Amino acid sequence: MCDNVEGLRKCYMALEDNEALAKLAGSPRHGKESFAKSNPAVDEIIDVDQTPSVQLLMQLKESGRMLQTAAMAYQLATMEASQKASPIRIKKLYILAAHIYNQSSVDGAKNREAARCYRLGAAQHWLALAMARAYAQPFRAEAALRAAARLMTVIDDLHSAQHEQVWCTVALIAIEARAFSLCSKAFIKLEALDVDNQYENLAVEVFTRYKPRDPKGTKVNCPNCETGIPDWATSCDSCGSVFPGCAVTARPLGETVAWRCGQCRHHAARHDLVLRHSCPMCHAALA
Ligand SMILES: [Zn+2]
Ligand SMILES: [Zn+2]
Repeated sequence: MCDNVEGLRKCYMALEDNEALAKLAGSPRHGKESFAKSNPAVDEIIDVDQTPSVQLLMQLKESGRMLQTAAMAYQLATMEASQKASPIRIKKLYILAAHIYNQSSVDGAKNREAARCYRLGAAQHWLALAMARAYAQPFRAEAALRAAARLMTVIDDLHSAQHEQVWCTVALIAIEARAFSLCSKAFIKLEALDVDNQYENLAVEVFTRYKPRDPKGTKVNCPNCETGIPDWATSCDSCGSVFPGCAVTARPLGETVAWRCGQCRHHAARHDLVLRHSCPMCHAALA
């Protein structure tokens, strides 16, 4: 890895820029118009002229206006995602919205809102997990590749402003894990987002040294068709089976070991829940 320090340094720099931007999240720069269109529940907010804030959210919650609280949590989450705030923080806001929608209605439309907010929260969860794995000391290649694979399946549920952060994280993991086929995929995405060709130059630097191949790694058999697939695959290329991922480890799960949360409907391996009191995805208490 040491001969690729320059490439890594640039990846780190790009990620750190995002960190710096995340610090700006406290001062909303974007108007509320862009969010108002995306969520019908926003109409339920009484005073639509107020910029969403945690303070306003708490006031709504204390006054018992639960659906408005949920709508504002959703707005805040989307706003913070557009500003590349910490994915953990964004996740918490989506999950808060989801729990409130879940608890406060028997109405189908609101249940759909709950399901959507759980899904958006889960996407932030995978981004946070992959970022943590990318920087983990010591770096564990297979664990990081699993998180990267999971992250790539939820790209459509992440804000477009977060896509650079996503592909930088994937590229960084791929470089460290020497998975250069995955790395080339990430660079193609980064080059498409790139304005000043920094990623194109970096890609040239990386791929003049390395062939775009992934390491052989551990193979497992697809539980459906028995084709050998990488142990971090989220689906089988041969039969198309899709495997749920453990919210703790991002490991693909077979039916027999998978536990499923009654609230958010996400999965975890049973043995990863032994020391836990709550769902690793939505933090609902375990029964
Ligand atoms: Zn298969
Ligand atoms: Zn859950």
